[in-house]
Amino acid sequence: MNDQTVLAFGCHPDDVEFTCAGTLALLKRAGWRVHLATLTGGECGSIELGREAIRKVRLAECAASAAVLDGEFTWAGGEDLEIEFSSELRARTVDVIRKARPDLVITQPPSDYMIDHEETSKLVRHACFGAPMPNVPSPEFEPIDHVPALVYTDAMDSADIFGRAVPVGFFVDITSVIDVKAEMLACHASQRDWLRRHHGVDEYIELMKRQSAARGERAGVKYAEAFTQHLGHGYPHTNLIAEALTDHVVLA
Ligand SMILES: [Zn+2]
Repeated sequence: MNDQTVLAFGCHPDDVEFTCAGTLALLKRAGWRVHLATLTGGECGSIELGREAIRKVRLAECAASAAVLDGEFTWAGGEDLEIEFSSELRARTVDVIRKARPDLVITQPPSDYMIDHEETSKLVRHACFGAPMPNVPSPEFEPIDHVPALVYTDAMDSADIFGRAVPVGFFVDITSVIDVKAEMLACHASQRDWLRRHHGVDEYIELMKRQSAARGERAGVKYAEAFTQHLGHGYPHTNLIAEALTDHVVLA
């Protein structure tokens, strides 16, 4: 039995499902523990409900998605369109890392279409580095033993803010778990339903499948997800995903 833990730390509810739920499903099958977290509670995700009401709905949707992989879910306490590299959110992000005690952390890429995503990327990168240091403050949990491996997901449209293709270190073939990815995404019913009403088709799930298929085409498989590892000084350079999912990883 593997005793490793992956923490998928997204910005908004459903970012993790779009970008890395297939890989999480494969890691779960390989015996890993899965922990999901978000920086925000999805406060801007409704045109009918107020901030607190929609947050309650969306955090329950996140927990349901994590439960598909028998995983835990943690909200870091930030809010939609309010994510900044502040000392308050730094401490809360460190606390989530200390709670999950991950071997591997997956988060948003450094350049992406929303500043919330970019700030999340910075916060999580910072938290991985600071979480083992006893004098780095965090509200509740004890320091971890060492810096976890850090991997970035794809950006929206696989492009940075200048429209250039984002770097890809490796692809994961998720063809065998695309239904699990869809099941996790479908837990976010509040978002899926209004898109379905608006577009007249199940655009939420279809968008995810188009994105996964576009990455699959690059990787030479039906559906894939793309990742790049953070290889800055002080972070582990071992590719834990490639080690765990040998048969599914396609190096870029
Ligand atoms: Zn997002």
